[in-house]
Amino acid sequence: MIGLSLKGIHKDFGSVRAVETTDLDFAEGELTALLGPSGCGKTTLLRMIAGLEDPSGGAIRLGERDITALPAHKRRFGMVFQSFALFPHLSVRENVVYSLVISGTSKQDAMDTGERLLDLVQLKEFGDRRIGELSGGQRQRVAIARALAQEPDVFLLDEPMSALDAKLREDMQVELRLLQQRLGITTIVVTHDQREAMTMADKIVVMSRGKVEQVGPPQDIYHRPANAFVADFIGKANFYDGVVEKGGVRVADTVLTRDPPAGFINGSDVRIACRPETPYLDSNDANGTRIKAKVTFVRDVGPARDIHLETEIGPMIVEYARGENQRDYVVGQETIVTLPTDGLHVFAKPGWAAE
Ligand code: ATP
Repeated sequence: MIGLSLKGIHKDFGSVRAVETTDLDFAEGELTALLGPSGCGKTTLLRMIAGLEDPSGGAIRLGERDITALPAHKRRFGMVFQSFALFPHLSVRENVVYSLVISGTSKQDAMDTGERLLDLVQLKEFGDRRIGELSGGQRQRVAIARALAQEPDVFLLDEPMSALDAKLREDMQVELRLLQQRLGITTIVVTHDQREAMTMADKIVVMSRGKVEQVGPPQDIYHRPANAFVADFIGKANFYDGVVEKGGVRVADTVLTRDPPAGFINGSDVRIACRPETPYLDSNDANGTRIKAKVTFVRDVGPARDIHLETEIGPMIVEYARGENQRDYVVGQETIVTLPTDGLHVFAKPGWAAE
């Protein structure tokens, strides 16, 4: 298995810059998720890596080798598309070995590889079935087996779960991740689903409007978002606009205590983000700002409870995992919410980049 790197890659469609100049490394054996909202350029980036789209500039290297001008069929990259793009008139086994047969592999070798791959994706019993006789999850596994048939150097998947229903999608994310780890294959997955990216990836590349906003392991991105876009796109956050003051940040008439953000002078406009699981209600913990609040809604979804509040600094959602806070909260109830000093992320204007 080999790592991949992009240097100064960008793509223009006429006057539209779909992907801004980008440098990225995809480490050997790692799974990287390209994550972002619709139209952010993630598919275009993946297609350039696959050789299906010519970059407007920059270079792609596979290990030491420059492959920028190498045609797609010579890249030895396995691809799984959103639609799976399987051949409906062929059996499961024929789909899996198709690329081997047309590339001249002997029938016996192709069949042996086919059996091994069907076993790997747990479809050993389904080799003779037609594609139309499979469920969505089984089709996805056929597409994965087919993409792996030529022992690719890199495995590329474009929204591989989008045709599956929610429950199956979650199961397949785990299955795909375990398979990828077992094979140790360098893998890039395009997704707009942050949970999917966090479930599967060693590293997430967050994109917006053609630009890479942040690159890092899932937990880093969640706990240390680089800017307000990332804090909003990955997980949930309460946001407040404020002004830096001595001792903290003033939001409306309340000063939220926090060490003065480095690099900000008094009077700077900032945006504050606070994850819903960080504030707490009716606690005497002194390490934070205590704010008056009133309950406006309670949502209990089983494993977690969201308490919606109207507070002195604006609306806020506080989330408790089951059993974390046993008190009952009802609409209209008055309470005190504490915002812990270290639970506040401060982003600068313009662009609301992180401090
Ligand atoms: P989605 O999740 O909706 O597939 P995406 O993040 O994958 O979105 P891209 O498909 O890469 O986004 O598109 C990025 C931008 O480039 C969009 O503004 C899109 O309209 C534009 N674009 C993509 N392909 C072309 C094309 N062939 N010609 C012109 N513009 C294009």
